[in-house]
Amino acid sequence: MSEQQVRERAGQCCELCKSEVSLSLYEVPDSAVKGFDSTLLVCQTCTNQLTGQSTPEANHWRCLNDAIWSPTPAVQVVAWRMLHHFSSEMWAQDLLDMMYLDDATQQWAEASGVASNNEPTLDSNGVVLNAGDTVHLIKDLNVKGVSFTAKRGTAVRNIGLSDNPAHIEGRVNGTRIVIIAAYTKKA
Ligand SMILES: [Zn+2]
Repeated sequence: MSEQQVRERAGQCCELCKSEVSLSLYEVPDSAVKGFDSTLLVCQTCTNQLTGQSTPEANHWRCLNDAIWSPTPAVQVVAWRMLHHFSSEMWAQDLLDMMYLDDATQQWAEASGVASNNEPTLDSNGVVLNAGDTVHLIKDLNVKGVSFTAKRGTAVRNIGLSDNPAHIEGRVNGTRIVIIAAYTKKA
């Protein structure tokens, strides 16, 4: 892999936020293969926040609005992980809902363990649920604060985990709700 190849793919700007200053190569962690496909051209601001040298700032990462549409899997992985970091914020959740990762990319994204709590979140069969999974509701749920019933059998895609392993979050009828994990079944 040459730096030149990565720079060409990136179009000489940060592959995450499009900044054109202080660019360097960043190896996306937990990749099965190292090299061109797992290396991004990113700016200093992105690098510092990705490596933990500075605290990730929500305002900076709104740039992912564009990055989630990148055809580059390594960009998708970083975007997915960072959006999960901010998944308590509506804008981040909205972007996550729009993202589509193929299976291999999804596995790579989850390999960091970013979505795992200390205690696993389990569905009604005791199957471990991960952020990004699709579940089906196994009973009608009356949702507090909204005027509809989430029907049994409803598919909830791209779920999020919560700090409480008994709860997941997901979008039903366009509304983001908290769902009891034990009332779901992994698809
Ligand atoms: Zn950047």
